[in-house]
Amino acid sequence: MGVMRRPTRKVYVGNVAVGGDAPIRVQSMCDTDTRDVDATVAQIHRLEEAGCELIRVAVPDRKAAAALQRIKSRISIPLIADIHFDYELALAAIEQGVDKVRINPGNIFVKAGQKGIEAVVLAAKQAKIPLRIGVNCGSIEPRLLEKYGYPTPEAAVESALDHIRFCEELGFHDMIVSVKFSEVPNMIRAYELLSAKIDYPLHLGVTEAGTPWSGTIKSAIGIGSLLAHGIGDTLRVSLTTPDKTDEVKVAYEILKSLEIRAHGPMLTACPGCGRTEVDLLKLTADVEAALASVKTPLRVAVMGCVVNGPGEAAGADLAVVGGRGRGAIYRKGKLLRTASEDQLIPALLAEIENWQPEPEQESKPNEVIPLRVKSR
Ligand code: SF4
Repeated sequence: MGVMRRPTRKVYVGNVAVGGDAPIRVQSMCDTDTRDVDATVAQIHRLEEAGCELIRVAVPDRKAAAALQRIKSRISIPLIADIHFDYELALAAIEQGVDKVRINPGNIFVKAGQKGIEAVVLAAKQAKIPLRIGVNCGSIEPRLLEKYGYPTPEAAVESALDHIRFCEELGFHDMIVSVKFSEVPNMIRAYELLSAKIDYPLHLGVTEAGTPWSGTIKSAIGIGSLLAHGIGDTLRVSLTTPDKTDEVKVAYEILKSLEIRAHGPMLTACPGCGRTEVDLLKLTADVEAALASVKTPLRVAVMGCVVNGPGEAAGADLAVVGGRGRGAIYRKGKLLRTASEDQLIPALLAEIENWQPEPEQESKPNEVIPLRVKSR
């Protein structure tokens, strides 16, 4: 837990605090048709089960806006309306009782003008809900594009600051801000510039990050770099994926890797080498699948041999060490039990079930396990 967090003010989205000393929040966005209430609620429930703390839905038209109250009544995490272009949809969403509205200043201001935005800010103020000033590199106002010649981090930050000032002049301070880019260096630069100028909570994200493979890498680098420097109060990993819970899983992996938040087990695995004595890919995949439903925050390691495995996994709370046809479970470097290969996962789950946080230090760490070696 070594990251010093930049101080921000605390903003409440429904009953979930964002910023200040609140945990860094994980959020996601539905890809269902918001007008299809059943499908949207079902997806939100899956995301919530995965650990999603705030959920955003697109509001492209009046019918979608009219579905918001019905969605909200069936979920238990705060609901955020995502609005582009049409300020009247923002007003309709606020009337429906959403917990936050995201507006994109680049397109809503251009289209609505000051009067429209003013109406949204005053409605949010009256409803006591926050707004997200969500600047996106793909939709920066024409006047800023003209000034900077390109959607630069400076242009995005100027856009955000202009709109923050506009809201502040109306006596509104309930804001969360984002300046998303699809290019990671621009994204990092924009948030660094912005965080030096405001103390509103920052929503981090790499926009249009891509597939679970490339999008995870971009998000881990972009979001992770900022979090490592104490910048960021909530994050959304945006992935082009058939399973939106991937976004939540990746978000928690980023937070767990930086030791910012615990969320279920943290899995490590050796890469395998010429000493590997087990089907390491299968064993690791089996352990990962078995841990998916485990909530206990443990470090679990999967190691491929008895030569280096126990020693290298001594920092893990529990280690599964593979051997030839037989493996072993270690706790902080101490042998707990051996098991046949097909019984390793049940043995691991049994140890997790019985897990007590206080480590026992009775025997020597890095003890080599007495595996029964099968002749080849
Ligand atoms: S733990 Fe064993 S199998 Fe895994 S990389 Fe190290 S030496 Fe190779």
